[in-house]
Amino acid sequence: MKAFLLDIDGTTLLGPEALPGAKAFVAWLRAEGIPFLWLTNNTSLSKGGWQRRLAAAGLDPRAAEIYTAGDATIDYLATRERPPRIHLVGTQDLRRAFNASGLVLDDRDPEAVVLGYDTELTYEKLREAALFLQKGLPFFATHPDDTCPTPEGPVPDVGAFLALFERATGRTARVLGKPEATMVEGALGRLGVPASEACAIGDRLATDIRMANRGGLTSCLVLSGVTAEADLEGSDDRPDHVFATIEGVHAWARELR
Ligand SMILES: [Mg+2]
Repeated sequence: MKAFLLDIDGTTLLGPEALPGAKAFVAWLRAEGIPFLWLTNNTSLSKGGWQRRLAAAGLDPRAAEIYTAGDATIDYLATRERPPRIHLVGTQDLRRAFNASGLVLDDRDPEAVVLGYDTELTYEKLREAALFLQKGLPFFATHPDDTCPTPEGPVPDVGAFLALFERATGRTARVLGKPEATMVEGALGRLGVPASEACAIGDRLATDIRMANRGGLTSCLVLSGVTAEADLEGSDDRPDHVFATIEGVHAWARELR
């Protein structure tokens, strides 16, 4: 494997803490000079926010090593021939990332609605977005996850908000994070490595593993997040390898060298 894509929630971290083996694996990747990216669908934080959170967990990340579904959404919208003015349903940190990208946020007369993982969600935000959606504005979501793993258990994420908007407005969104091609192409483009030589590690079958399988990457499922071994039965998303934690990925990757 010439490069690794590491999921964050449930793979590298659980809540604020590094999961067992995460620090050692990242230290080994650095020592071996193997490029990697942290690839997260969690858009409650920007790249800078994730950098601080990973640093607080003792992981010493560089901003260039982080690629979020927010970055993939920004890349997709900013490279359109005429980028739309955006009504963003998202955290203050995600707003900062959109503002820094040069995309225009406009809550009065927007041309598109973008939904992120808004952990600062209020009824007023739901109301405003629903009214814009009822006018027929194009609708984008940063990622499809129904829940986000936390130490206390899974909590509502963008997929759950999308169900709410669908019930309220009949509208469904175009999704841009994992498992969509926008995310994996953005990540591999940054690493400069072909899909066949890259390995994606994650805890969710429908995002991490589906993205790897669709994109032609090697896939490693870790059971330290939202997926239990029993969930593999009957799933169409088949990982190439299954490990209890990222510690197992490390042992496997070391043997490959
Ligand atoms: Mg995860």
